[in-house]
Amino acid sequence: MENKETSSNFIKTIMQEDLRSGKHSDIITRFPPEPNGYLHIGHAKSIALNFGLADEFNGKTNLRFDDTNPLKEDQEYVDAIKEDVQWLGFEWDGLHFASNYFEEMYERAILLIKKGMAYVEDLSIEEIREYRGTLTEHGKESPSRSRNVEENLDLFKQMRDGKFGNGEKVLRAKIDMSSGNMNMRDPVLYRISHTTHHNTGDSWCIYPMYAFAHPLEDAIEGVTHSICTTEFEEQRPLYNWVVEHTDMAVQPQQIEFGRLNITNTVMSKRKLKQLVDEGVVDGWDDPRLPTISGLRRRGFTPEAIREFIYETGVSKGSGAVDVQMMEHFIREDLKMKAPRTMSVIRPLKVVITNYPEGESEMLEAEINPENPEMGTRQIPFSREIYIEQEDFMEEPPKKYHRLYPGNEVRLKHAYFIKCEDFVKDEEGNIVELHCTYDPETKSGSGFTGRKVKGTIHWVDANDSKASEFRLYDSLILDEDEEEEGNEEKTFMDRINPESLEILQGFVESNMDVKPQDKFQFFRHGYFNVDPKHSTAEKPVFNRIVSLKSSFKFKK
Ligand code: ATP
Ligand code: MG
Repeated sequence: MENKETSSNFIKTIMQEDLRSGKHSDIITRFPPEPNGYLHIGHAKSIALNFGLADEFNGKTNLRFDDTNPLKEDQEYVDAIKEDVQWLGFEWDGLHFASNYFEEMYERAILLIKKGMAYVEDLSIEEIREYRGTLTEHGKESPSRSRNVEENLDLFKQMRDGKFGNGEKVLRAKIDMSSGNMNMRDPVLYRISHTTHHNTGDSWCIYPMYAFAHPLEDAIEGVTHSICTTEFEEQRPLYNWVVEHTDMAVQPQQIEFGRLNITNTVMSKRKLKQLVDEGVVDGWDDPRLPTISGLRRRGFTPEAIREFIYETGVSKGSGAVDVQMMEHFIREDLKMKAPRTMSVIRPLKVVITNYPEGESEMLEAEINPENPEMGTRQIPFSREIYIEQEDFMEEPPKKYHRLYPGNEVRLKHAYFIKCEDFVKDEEGNIVELHCTYDPETKSGSGFTGRKVKGTIHWVDANDSKASEFRLYDSLILDEDEEEEGNEEKTFMDRINPESLEILQGFVESNMDVKPQDKFQFFRHGYFNVDPKHSTAEKPVFNRIVSLKSSFKFKK
């Protein structure tokens, strides 16, 4: 990996100190997604941090599926997550499933019961909530709290053996019902769920809660630094409590950082899943989604995503990053790599009346003027071409230098043409232009006779590739990202009805077009060949970004 991620941050400082003091001899991190959806750009930040930091200290990083909630999890997500992590350019050391630790977790729960530090609860979830108290009011101890060890062991065994229905019993930690930290008021460690698990099938009907499972998973794997996002800060005392009282050999340290948020972007798996399930988008890999698979299909490269992530830095804060910053990095990445060609996305036919009928010629142009090593291409030119509808106006406003009756422009890489006449259909739409060309003005011929103010792009009408173009706008309208839990005005009310525009047009025929190939189309921006909807006859191009941006880096 190239090492921009090495830019100093507070987590790195902690690791350095732990190695220096001898607390750890190796750094071990993990990326722990729950397989309940596809990864998004926010996860990429967590991935880059966990893998990047360990890599820097020659440590190890595990990919661990945090699969303790069978209701929401699925093998499809496991496969997609593995693919995305690899595509982003990261290699895990161990590949683990939290569900493979269920037996060990169960044993550790029994240990807690034996120590008198956990008990089986008869109260319902609602009652537990009532008993819990509030920030200003102590909680109330449940009658179950005084059960003896033997009875707890027996009941917990019965829970495991399927003697109870969902919600009838839970296992709770016995900590402190008057703690100032609500998470420490006898948190639930195990719940009953008669659900088939994607990995363990029907072996279990009790499942550990995240707060119990996660620290154990980390400790079992010998993770030294358990990096997570700031919403888990309040859980840190419980994390430490679990590791300490279950007698785990390794004591991982939980360290929180601020999650990545991006303007005009929904970034929670729950919301993304809703968009997918309700058919608002074309699957998890819809190019408008901030999922890794969506960004890939849109045309973002792993390099651009990584550069963007490193630029966002690491802090405790969680301000939203401008979505244009991400676009900046894909432009930078593709500037030198992407072949440049011409495409016409809203075609208007032009007949060049003084060009001999039935003849054609090849014009030569560089594939990428900024990267001459990419060589040259041949562009066919003949009597009939397409230009953009917006490059002709019957009655032009001031400073319009493109085609209008009597005006002359340069066709990019070709000749000057002059508009002589135009044809309208019955509704008054312009359907065809008649122009003349001047053979003296061939591009590259050194012609200096006169100048024109406008240059427009075009493609040959008889020798070009019919193509579909998909232009995207943000899926979510304004930036006022709702708070988690405040569903009054949900993100579903802020869906942009014009987030996708589909156009039919043409590209140069010399192009070799394979899924995921990227091009810069003159004036239109960078495009990616859609892997899902392109066919051999007709490519579909997703616009990644337009060419220009108003985005400026803050000093
Ligand atoms: P979501 O809220 O989108 O469902 P999650 O946190 O529930 O995300 P997990 O699968 O539990 O998703 O996340 C795996 C790891 O990715 C966690 O360590 C989590 O903190 C981290 N992560 C998730 N979203 C972001 C984000 N926006 N920025 C940085 N890290 C994130
Ligand atoms: Mg989650």
